[in-house]
Amino acid sequence: MAKQFTDEELRKRLTPEEYHILREAGTEAPYTGKLLENKAEGTYVCPVCGNELFSSKTKFDSGSGWPSFYDVASTGSVKLVPDDSLGMHRVEVLCAVCGSHLGHLFDDAKNQPTGQRFCINSASLKFMPKKQS
Ligand SMILES: [Zn+2]
Repeated sequence: MAKQFTDEELRKRLTPEEYHILREAGTEAPYTGKLLENKAEGTYVCPVCGNELFSSKTKFDSGSGWPSFYDVASTGSVKLVPDDSLGMHRVEVLCAVCGSHLGHLFDDAKNQPTGQRFCINSASLKFMPKKQS
C-alpha cells in the first residue's frame, strides 16, 4: 500500500533541495552529496517514509559522484520505471512505499556482482548507523 504524504507536510519536513530531488525528480550536483564518502556500516532508508532502501554492504565507489549501490536492501525496496526524459533512455528508481524519486539504475555488468549500479542522490537517502552491540 502506497503511503501518502501531503505536499504541505513534506515542504515543512524537507529542505528545498531535498524536496526538489525527492518530489520533483531533481538531481543533486555530482560530488556534493553528504553521503557520497560515507563508508560506515548501516542502512540507508527513505527520508520521507523510512522504507529500508539500501545496505552499506552493497555501497561502492563508482567514481560517478553519487552514492552507488549494486543491490537493494530487499526485493521490493524500490520501484523501477522507464525514464525517457532528457533524450536518454534510463531507468528511474523510486521508493516502493511512497514513490519518492531516488535516482537511476544503470548497467554495470563489468564491475558489479549484480551487473547493476543504483546511482542515488544523497538527498534521497537517510543513513541509519548500525547499532553497536
Ligand atoms: Zn519512501
